[in-house]
Amino acid sequence: MDGAMTALPLVFDAPRRGTPPRHLADLTREEARAAVADLGQPAFRADQLARHFYRGVTDPAQMTDLPAAAREALTEALLPGLLTVVRHQTADNGRTRKTLWRLHDGALVESVLMRYPGRATVCISSQAGCGMACPFCATGQQGLTRNLSAAEIIGQAVAAAAAMANGELDGGPGRLSNVVFMGMGEPLANYARVRKTLDALLTPAPHGLGLSQRSVTVSTVGLVPAIRRLTEEGRNVTLAVSLHAPDDELRDTLVPINTRWKVQEVVDAADAYAKRTGRRYSVEYALIRDVNDQPFRADLLGTLLAGRLAHVNLIPLNPTPGSPWDASPLPAQREFVARLRAAGVATTVRDTRGQDIDGACGQLAASDAAPGVPSVAVPTPSVEPPVELGAEGDQ
Ligand code: SAH
Repeated sequence: MDGAMTALPLVFDAPRRGTPPRHLADLTREEARAAVADLGQPAFRADQLARHFYRGVTDPAQMTDLPAAAREALTEALLPGLLTVVRHQTADNGRTRKTLWRLHDGALVESVLMRYPGRATVCISSQAGCGMACPFCATGQQGLTRNLSAAEIIGQAVAAAAAMANGELDGGPGRLSNVVFMGMGEPLANYARVRKTLDALLTPAPHGLGLSQRSVTVSTVGLVPAIRRLTEEGRNVTLAVSLHAPDDELRDTLVPINTRWKVQEVVDAADAYAKRTGRRYSVEYALIRDVNDQPFRADLLGTLLAGRLAHVNLIPLNPTPGSPWDASPLPAQREFVARLRAAGVATTVRDTRGQDIDGACGQLAASDAAPGVPSVAVPTPSVEPPVELGAEGDQ
């Protein structure tokens, strides 16, 4: 554990930087109708704008159901462009695409769209940077720039849905089916905006993307009070908890928030969520060579999780620049899986989509460097059953 990692402070409160311009997606339906009325337009135009927004229409000229004279003013006031594409990078034969976005204040974030047989998943960012300081994560090493607004988060999913509908990924037109909050940032540290985003993702068209609850995954380092709050919301989205160690001693160093909320508290909170929703949660565990991949740790994890409504998702570590750590070798991975399964814990190994474009889990560290320079990073969300290790299920 010695080595290059500098301990960063934990940061909960995002720096207050200029809020992005007001956007329809930040508003409730009632607020949007009122805003349209303020512009001297009939309130139902808010619904027309929503329909365009969630279909990914950004060009006022295409909004032919709005009076030509009002289009510009309405879009300017309620659909300002918040996300500008800096670049797309594709991998996996055109089936994975990472997008680097520039926000109104110059902050950069990334999202990654991944197409699989029968589904398409986008991994979105909830913050620019991250304050959770996990030493193996590229985003964690950047520190926190700011929280994203709801519209900035929702916009990433809308763009992905439009990209699928327009056949921008190899394989022709398709449908966005899954969203995972595994991009940059700690979603539960930006709770209110993430909650609004969940509304937008789950609300049927035309006022949302109409995704199913089980196909939306919120991933957290384990902010226990926020997990409890989410439990009370009554939504049944999938919860993923980034555990990475079964024991407090190691987890204190790998996931520094553990110094605040311990392993036991985190799994207890996740259990309560699972009990309320009736749905298994996922335990994320990046396998790091000789750090957390020992057989005794597999046994500890098995003991910790046996009998709980948990499913373990192992992620071979995606090494980040400057990190002394590496992924566990395949035999160690196999042994880890075997021990967990022997303990009766459902276990899969995540595929590593987008690794060569630094688009895999924990690699997102948005920068504007030239493509090919290993500096941009986005976490890899979607889980694909690993061929070699034999997996079951996914999120
Ligand atoms: N902050 C949230 C979501 C973002 S990260 C969270 O921590 O859950 C998404 C997943 O990628 C998390 O499970 C995270 O621990 C994992 N991850 C981070 N860095 C990684 C790396 N270098 N290799 C593999 N997984 C990593």
